Amino acid sequence: MRIIIAIIILIGATINAGAQSKKSNPKKDAVLKSIQNHEKELIKLSDDVWSYAETALKETKSSKALADYAESQGFRVKRGVAGMPTAFTAEYGSGKPIIGIMGEFDALPGISQKAQPTKEALVKDAGGHGCGHNLFGAGSLGAAVAIKELIEQGKLKGTIRFYGTPAEEAVGGKIYMARDGLFSDVDVCLDWHPDVEIAANMQSSQAMVDFVVEFKGKAAHAAADPWNGRSALDGLELFLDGVNMLREHVWPSVRMHYVIQSGGDVPNVVPEYSKVWMWVRDSKREGVEKVFARVKDIAKGAALMAGVESKITLQSGDYELLVNQKGAEALQKNMEAIGPIVYTEEEITFAKKIQEVSEGKQTGLDGGIHPLKLTKENPEGGSTDVGDISWLVPEITALVTTAPANAPWHSWAVVACGGMSIGHKGLVFAAKSLAMTMVDLYESEQLRKDIRAEFENRKGSHVYKGYIPDGPPPIPTSN
Ligand SMILES: [Zn+2]
Repeated sequence: MRIIIAIIILIGATINAGAQSKKSNPKKDAVLKSIQNHEKELIKLSDDVWSYAETALKETKSSKALADYAESQGFRVKRGVAGMPTAFTAEYGSGKPIIGIMGEFDALPGISQKAQPTKEALVKDAGGHGCGHNLFGAGSLGAAVAIKELIEQGKLKGTIRFYGTPAEEAVGGKIYMARDGLFSDVDVCLDWHPDVEIAANMQSSQAMVDFVVEFKGKAAHAAADPWNGRSALDGLELFLDGVNMLREHVWPSVRMHYVIQSGGDVPNVVPEYSKVWMWVRDSKREGVEKVFARVKDIAKGAALMAGVESKITLQSGDYELLVNQKGAEALQKNMEAIGPIVYTEEEITFAKKIQEVSEGKQTGLDGGIHPLKLTKENPEGGSTDVGDISWLVPEITALVTTAPANAPWHSWAVVACGGMSIGHKGLVFAAKSLAMTMVDLYESEQLRKDIRAEFENRKGSHVYKGYIPDGPPPIPTSN
């Protein structure tokens, strides 16, 4: 009996010691406290960016709000980097390790929405944060500020660098920042993305290339002297026929989509100009390259058949995301230590109302921490320029709930949640989990080495080359 009791006491003591050593990391406690202290400011920052709702490379006020805040917190801010007036870096500390964290802030056009669960524009025809990038930018900056305070107090050694990365939804601002070498000295980089569940991301994204094809022919009277004309529209139609026949001979993972931007003006003039804007996606960059090469040949063939000229212009493109399991595992532990997001009755009702309107199941919100999943061979559903950065430096990505499942993404529903407490709770959770993971990265050289070794192994001998044209980024000339 005595022995049994003694054993029970011993086991109890061991469990207690384990629990205590897990909890007692004063630096992690300090970053949590910092985020709590700055919570109101971070939410205001996010709400301001949400209300500006500025689209790609027009994010003047949004970028300024974030950069000004970083400056007020003592960061060294460089504005207008990589040839983009709205791109910036904010740095604190010195020497190695250099930990990067990215923040986006661009909106999508035409989806302005009030912070309410029924569809109603805040400003008619204006943009809206249908991907939650207002939360993304402010949340990441909050994590950077928490780390900066520990460096300032001499409790962590190294550099924290926040990247204000514009134009994710179009153009791909990060690719221009990468081209200028802004990521070349970073040890590990982090980011997060608004989502419908919480997870340390182990899912890759799709690689893609964005380009336009133009055809140039000769105008003539369509009835009086058509023999003198060469139709650019014929060229375009033959091209698209070729593309649509190609669909049968590509991997099921390939996606090709296009919009015709110009196909002539009136039927009685043989069109002398036509233009189609097209994206090709696949699970991996090498798959995209193969299909893109065939599409280029199809354009040449179509032009030859129609007796016109063709021209392909590369606009942008993304690499697939190179995931990092070691990094994701570190993040996962911190997410679990924070515990699930708890929602109020009002928030759950708000979410269900959105799900009702969008005809989804009314499941409410998912604030639980999902277990680590391995990456799928063929990811579906989209591309990101974070993918490009993940080929230059090991990347850790958090996914955090900021909207209910079944809410249509890139739409009013996500804009609504991002401007109220559901989104705010996601922002705070993201800031906390990323800051805690950065503490691990500063403190453990072994963790950094393991993450780097996995990165090198996954990357192999591939040499990164971003899908952007030569020359400066396409800065809009008006408004
Ligand atoms: Zn996004």
